[in-house]
Amino acid sequence: MLTVRLAHETDFEGWRDAARRLRGQRIAPGEVCWTTEPQLFADDVAALPEPKPFAVPANFVELAEDVALNRAAHRWDALYRLLWRLEREPRLLALTSDPEVLEARHLRAEVSKASHKMKAFVRFREIPHPDGEAYAAWFEPPHRVVAKTAPFFVRRFTTMRFSILTPDLCAHWDGRHLRFTPGEDRASIPAPDALEDAWTTYYASIFNPARLKVKMMQKEMPKRYWRNLPEAALIEGLIQQAQERTEVMVQAEPTTPARRLAGKAEVRDRAVVERDAAPLAGDLIALAKLEQGCRRCELWKTATQAVTGEGPGTARLMLVGEQPGDNEDLQGRASIGPAGQLLDRALDEAGIERSALYVTNAVKHFKHEPRGKRRLHKRPDRAEVSACRWWLDTERRLVRPRVILALGATAALAVTGKTIPIMKSRGQIIQLDDQAQAMVTVHPSYLLRVPDERARAEGFEMFAHDLREAARLAGVV
Ligand code: URA
Repeated sequence: MLTVRLAHETDFEGWRDAARRLRGQRIAPGEVCWTTEPQLFADDVAALPEPKPFAVPANFVELAEDVALNRAAHRWDALYRLLWRLEREPRLLALTSDPEVLEARHLRAEVSKASHKMKAFVRFREIPHPDGEAYAAWFEPPHRVVAKTAPFFVRRFTTMRFSILTPDLCAHWDGRHLRFTPGEDRASIPAPDALEDAWTTYYASIFNPARLKVKMMQKEMPKRYWRNLPEAALIEGLIQQAQERTEVMVQAEPTTPARRLAGKAEVRDRAVVERDAAPLAGDLIALAKLEQGCRRCELWKTATQAVTGEGPGTARLMLVGEQPGDNEDLQGRASIGPAGQLLDRALDEAGIERSALYVTNAVKHFKHEPRGKRRLHKRPDRAEVSACRWWLDTERRLVRPRVILALGATAALAVTGKTIPIMKSRGQIIQLDDQAQAMVTVHPSYLLRVPDERARAEGFEMFAHDLREAARLAGVV
């Protein structure tokens, strides 16, 4: 039996070098013991001859890099078993019923989940810093995902100086460089401060006792993370009060339910418009009719129709896109083309019902230029956005959402009146004049254009995360 000692717990390069040499010498998995513990007798695998180069599928390397971050002691052995078999079975990874493939996939899934949870549950506190504002967070990931996940926080909080401290590894961003230092003790995180109070107030305000599902809540926010989440201190108390608060809500005077805004086809049908003429829905329907006659800029001339917003007149969260695309222009419904379908998938991923949202656009007519038989999307200019703002502002006055999420720069301009750098500002809360709060994120069509598959998948995850943050702020989830 050969004992291979790796330099540290995530020493993927060390494993790769040893595994290549072992395979080159025909040393089978059952004859190798992998460890990261300092051992008295470890074999000098680096002294084995350099093997002839051999290729492994790219998806094996990706899988192995993630599996290496799992805390399971058998991870290195599991990987070597696959590498060994890949020589004879180059299509091994496609065999989804193979127990060894399944095990490696399971180890990777645990790592992905830990990375996802880290993105959701890291909470920063402001800490004293000689150069001004700085933030620190303490987090205890179930797997060693700090280095893998830190770039997400850099992209999200590019302008912030921050450290994420964990028992395994600490990540530090100074606005220019990402550095890593060894793991820390929990005691190194500063005492609770005002930021933490803000979190607890926010969490208490979005907590809806009537929707309390303890099992679901624990699944989303597993107990293991509670001790590092400021808002978690409230959970037990809120659960206890939930029953009482629900009863008060049930006994309170009923409010008149607002009717759902009729779809576009209905808008054109006068009988339906009249039938649905309840105060709020009626106003939105009237607005939709008025939009059809809009001549505030020139875009109506080449568009099929104005595409109006859709969703409940009492929606707490309003999504604002840029302008209708080709499909939307023809069918008269917002966000139903490829970008809209990506939006639907991200809403699904974030656990948000689209039917609870009001979805509209900054500009109501499709701006495009002909290219052969196709009509190519053209970005609306400032004057067009400004002309169309009248409609959006009226929708805002009627729906009165708590939160408006602007998808992309044009929407952000229409919602806030300012040019907002999307990548720098996503995740921040912008207070609007009408009591609503705004957040910004990328436009889904941007994600459709990202050429690299991995970057696209990560962008999609961040987009779903932004949707969820906005929905949480609005109290929709
Ligand atoms: N892009 C948008 O911004 N809105 C739509 O309705 C469709 C595509």
